[in-house]
Parts: sequence; C-alpha cells; structure tokens
Amino acid sequence: MVPRAAPGELERVRRFLNTAEHKDGRKTIPDRLRSRREAEIWLPKLELLPAGTELTKSEVQRIRKLREVLAALVLEARPADASFLDTLREIAEGARFRLVFGADGRPWMRAVGTGLDLAVASLLRIFLEAKHNGRWSRFKVCGACHRVFYDYAQNRSTKWCTPLCGDQVRSRKYLRRRREKEERIRREEEAARFREEHR
Ligand SMILES: [Zn+2]
Repeated sequence: MVPRAAPGELERVRRFLNTAEHKDGRKTIPDRLRSRREAEIWLPKLELLPAGTELTKSEVQRIRKLREVLAALVLEARPADASFLDTLREIAEGARFRLVFGADGRPWMRAVGTGLDLAVASLLRIFLEAKHNGRWSRFKVCGACHRVFYDYAQNRSTKWCTPLCGDQVRSRKYLRRRREKEERIRREEEAARFREEHR
C-alpha cells in the first residue's frame, strides 16, 4: 500500500527521504542510494538529476548526508552537538539560488546550477519553504515501516503512513499479548504441577 503523496513539491522530498531502507509489509526495501550506480538510477527517477548524469563517490556521500540530516530534522532528533550544523553548512555549500518574480510580482527563490549542486539546492529550497509555511512539521516517520509520510490530519495525530501499517502493528501487538498470556498460563500450570508433586 502506497502512502498518500505530500502536497506539491514536498512530495519530492518525501520520496527522496524514502530512498532509505524501510519495510514494505514483510519485505525490506534496501537503501536506493547505497552505491554510485544506484544513486545514478534513482535520483533521475525522483526528478532530482537528469538521466545519464554521472556521480562521483563524494557526491553520493553528500546526497546521503543530506538525506540523513533532513531525516533527523523530520524526527526532530537533531543532535545537540555543533557538528550537525557544520554538516548542514557543508552540504549547502555549492547550492545556489536566484530570486525570481512571477507574473503577479510574487517573489520566490529558484534553485540554480547543474548536476548534484542543483539537486541539493532544490531539496534545500523545498525544505526552507516548508519550514516557513509550517508544513515541514507535518512530516512524520511511520511507526511500522519507517517510511516518511505527510500527516493531513487536522490534529496531526496520524501514526501510520497507511491504515495497513496500523493494522500490522495492532495485530503484532495482539499476537504478542496472546503469546504472553499463553506463556503465563503454561508457567502457572507447571508451578501447580510442581507443588502437587512435592506435597
Ligand atoms: Zn508505514
């Protein structure tokens, strides 16, 4: 079951974040950016790079780092140390933007550049906008499959990316409780037998 898309451009960030390893039912979906080859296939699929772009090893490391940092910002698990900020600054270096104006005079920022610099700038621009309009805080990590999803609920109370994930967790909990109960009964019976035999 595929989670609902995030609104507008945020969907690109959501799909980018979900290139990290996660679960789909019982299947484990591997990290899509674990090698140069895979990053060269997957980043164009996410419309972050033109098809056929070749990446260097350090570029793959940079995009992986960006994913890690953005994921930490979703979880609000920002480490307290200053190295987190340093990492962000390091990644953002080379990302360029231009202020442009729409037909109605509305200003916005456009990511410019080529290759991976453009991909990084685009993701950072979407992040910045979402931070400003409050949408970033609607991103959550599903408690069952670890995918990032967008919480549309008014009170922001959604815990699972799809109802299926919620069902899975509930049935896992139910099975665990049942196993625990059976185990307890078995032990009680054993103890009773032991007392009986040693009376
Ligand atoms: Zn899920």
